[in-house]
Amino acid sequence: MAESIFSKIIKREIPAEIVYEDDEIIAINDINPQAPVHILIIPKKEIPTLNDLEENDSRLIGKIFLTAKELAKKNGISEDGYRLVVNCNKNAGQTVFHIHFHLLGGRIFSWPPG
Ligand code: 5GP
Repeated sequence: MAESIFSKIIKREIPAEIVYEDDEIIAINDINPQAPVHILIIPKKEIPTLNDLEENDSRLIGKIFLTAKELAKKNGISEDGYRLVVNCNKNAGQTVFHIHFHLLGGRIFSWPPG
């Protein structure tokens, strides 16, 4: 499978605004933000979609949720609220096939989503 744009960002082949990084996760500002805060939290492990998650990814996914919580706090959106979204495949509009979590906040979101 071709390398994703996020793998290129992880390898510093493409620039991005990195807001958090450790040995397993990188978080970057979305290039086309849909809210005042729009951060993509991305595992460095190349997992194409939610459908490809395996049992042994559960700790990593838990860590991503904890990272989202911390980034929400850091960006001042914890109390007003925020969304953490994963798009899976075409009906959800997934465009980058390297799993990522959208942390969105700073405005009011409608429900149900469009
Ligand atoms: P998806 O639709 O796959 O859930 O979301 C992909 C997201 O990646 C989109 O919100 C899009 O704006 C963002 N994105 C795509 N290419 C780049 C890039 O090169 N840099 C950054 N920072 N975000 C990107």
